[in-house]
Amino acid sequence: MELLLTDPLDMHLHLREGEMLRTVAPLSAKDFAAGVIMPNLQQPVDSLVRLLAYRDEVGKALSQYLFTPLMTLFFKNYSEKELLEARPHILGIKLYPAGITTQSESGVRDIRGAYKTFELLEELRIPLLVHGESNGFVMDREREFISVYQQVARDFPQLHLIMEHITTADAVRFLDSSDKVSATVTLHHLLITLDDVAGNMLEPDLFCKPIAKTPHDRETLRQAVFSGHPRLMFGSDSAPHPRHKKECCGCAAGIFSAPVALPLLAQMFEEQGCLDKLQGFVSDIAKQRYGLPEFGKTVRLSKENWKVPELYDTVRPFYAGQTLQWTATI
Ligand SMILES: [Zn+2]
Repeated sequence: MELLLTDPLDMHLHLREGEMLRTVAPLSAKDFAAGVIMPNLQQPVDSLVRLLAYRDEVGKALSQYLFTPLMTLFFKNYSEKELLEARPHILGIKLYPAGITTQSESGVRDIRGAYKTFELLEELRIPLLVHGESNGFVMDREREFISVYQQVARDFPQLHLIMEHITTADAVRFLDSSDKVSATVTLHHLLITLDDVAGNMLEPDLFCKPIAKTPHDRETLRQAVFSGHPRLMFGSDSAPHPRHKKECCGCAAGIFSAPVALPLLAQMFEEQGCLDKLQGFVSDIAKQRYGLPEFGKTVRLSKENWKVPELYDTVRPFYAGQTLQWTATI
């Protein structure tokens, strides 16, 4: 069995910098036509100069593959002039509440203080991508943040607001209620729950932010995806860390799923009898929501066993060492 995907897109991707970038970028570039590149580097990407330099660095790391990095700026209160200059080069602006995840210490503390910039984004039709978690109890953070999404969606009705990596039934309910709002969901939140992370021996490779939730949450996400929800897109949130940052005291949050994303999605959609929905989930819905062009790439998924490597350089991938039923080639 074989499946041809047109322009698979990863709408939430961490490529890092330097050596790590050179290790992971070709793995995404092989399987995907484009990816939304997150700006939370050591020094956040918060100016056009930094963004263009980073885009160059990404471009050099892609190997021979056809792949478009869709760049994002780290949220701060930008002037209209800055946004106008950046607009042709960016897909959107990524907002992190302060201190919530990797390199988010300089994120937003007060949402009202960001209103001036939200107004400009709405006016200039620049999407706002949000890591939607409060500072509360870890299992409640996303649910608590939904009131912020509600407020922003109400006060800026024309703003394209994207709830990044949703993990809960509450988030799906809010997405259902507002046709202006879009969301991304990761591969791992469709597969694991908190039990897989901490129910037995602690699994550092499955520790991520937002943390995996309950079986009910996972089931609700899966139903939304498999039924072809019109505003729910694939974003891997693939976030590599070297092994010594995972298997240590103070394990870093992030799952490196980019190399296994398409094969595992095909496996999952096949099991559910909805392989016909995969093209929409990994490409068409995102193209429609963001108004993206055709990228002209075809990726072939064949039903052939593939053993996932134990390591890519220093990084252990999701499903390391396991045999998957599908293989992706170009
Ligand atoms: Zn992320």
